[in-house]
Amino acid sequence: MRSLCRGCDRMFASLGGFEEHRIGSYGEAIYKPNDTKRKQSIGHTKHTRHCMSEEELVSAGFVSRQQIVPVVIEGISSKQERIVWYSATDLKRESLRGTSDEEEESDE
Ligand SMILES: [Zn+2]
Repeated sequence: MRSLCRGCDRMFASLGGFEEHRIGSYGEAIYKPNDTKRKQSIGHTKHTRHCMSEEELVSAGFVSRQQIVPVVIEGISSKQERIVWYSATDLKRESLRGTSDEEEESDE
């Protein structure tokens, strides 16, 4: 299942890769050290969630490929040439499966 990120407009070969490229914290609640039951937060860490830069993607093991991918625009299926980012996991999975240009459509 390819995933298009609305944040950085990059397309990922899998949902896993998509999730991997979003880094940083959503902003977590902070509690006093003696508040072991975490009843009352005293603040939040900064929201630092963001998309990796191209540099960060590459250093995280992502590889980009120019591909013709099926897209649906306003209900009409067509094909578009796009850069698709593969995570290290995607590449590993691909090499395990051998060469595969076959389309993989999931039900998600
Ligand atoms: Zn993104």
